[in-house]
Amino acid sequence: HVSTYTPPPAQYGGRHTVTLIPGDGIGPELANHVHELFRFCCVPVDFEVVNVDPSIASEGDINNAIMAIRRNGVALKGNIETNHNLPPSYKSRNNLLRTTLDLFANVMHCQSLPGVRTRHKNVDIMIIRENTEGEYSSLEHENVPGVVECLKIITRTKSLRIADYAFRMAREKGRRRVTAVHKANIMKLADGLFLQCCKEVASGYPEISFDSMIVDNTTMQLVSRPQQFDVMVMPNLYGNVVSNVCAGLVGGPGLVPGANYGDDYAVFETGTRNTGKSIANRNTANPTAMLLASCLLLDHLKLHAYAGMIRRAILTIVTETRLHTADLGGQGSTSEVVQSIMNAIQSTRAHTLST
Ligand code: ADP
Ligand code: MG
Repeated sequence: HVSTYTPPPAQYGGRHTVTLIPGDGIGPELANHVHELFRFCCVPVDFEVVNVDPSIASEGDINNAIMAIRRNGVALKGNIETNHNLPPSYKSRNNLLRTTLDLFANVMHCQSLPGVRTRHKNVDIMIIRENTEGEYSSLEHENVPGVVECLKIITRTKSLRIADYAFRMAREKGRRRVTAVHKANIMKLADGLFLQCCKEVASGYPEISFDSMIVDNTTMQLVSRPQQFDVMVMPNLYGNVVSNVCAGLVGGPGLVPGANYGDDYAVFETGTRNTGKSIANRNTANPTAMLLASCLLLDHLKLHAYAGMIRRAILTIVTETRLHTADLGGQGSTSEVVQSIMNAIQSTRAHTLST
């Protein structure tokens, strides 16, 4: 996280408490694997598990989850299912959580991994997505039967805030270029304002070049020559689409972790936030994205040594051992991948002790 944010203090005995929301679909099994791996590595983190039932109308569960995150400062979550057939008054629990906690920056780093076969090589894109307004404002109404208005809210304050986040991150990570993605030719006021804010912020970062691209061209450029992109910043819905395209470019939803940062809290999850209902409880889901999300969480808590140890083991299995789950064309089960990650950690530990 790029701000001067200090993570929540270690609790008794130097251990951190982190809220764990297992979510639906493959969420609970992946949460169990994170738990297992943390225990195996003696990570000084205790999870406070909060279950959210997506089928009940009451917002009690999600409010409990939000309260727990306020208390602990940090969470790891699986996606909570949102059924399209629920009444319009029912708000997505995931969206409620992000907006209530003002987790304004969604950050996803898509990088090609050696060992994962993909159409394009050398992709290395950071996507910064505004996470609290735009098309996700949940302001829709049917004026008269057959006429619906859905409001997209773009504000100067929040556009400057996300643009500033993107440029600060670019500077901190030594990135050279930021591209704003928009559709200001059609939404002249809304996307025009977003673009204007990005330009204003860019002027404070002379060492980083700035350009902009219309979202339709962006998606075409991404699938034909993705190596041209560095850091990308955009409003909420384009961010959703572009991050899914980028995840697909580097191997799919099972690989890429995501982070949601605000000034006060941070929530980690898989980059494309899938529920994976159709593959739940089959021991076939790719655990990589969720395990890497747990590494981002450890980095956030400044437990860098643990994060590094787990991340190196994950990457060894993906890139060298090539024990892959079905989504990557492999034969491995979820638990076999997790087990081999633990074996890799064990052998580096043994190696460290013997030298
Ligand atoms: P959503 O739940 O948001 O509708 P899906 O769960 O349908 O999204 O996910 C889209 C596709 O990606 C599905 O085919 C799903 O099986 C696959 N998928 C998502 N996460 C994983 C994962 N961790 N491992 C393997 N496949 C995954
Ligand atoms: Mg989906």
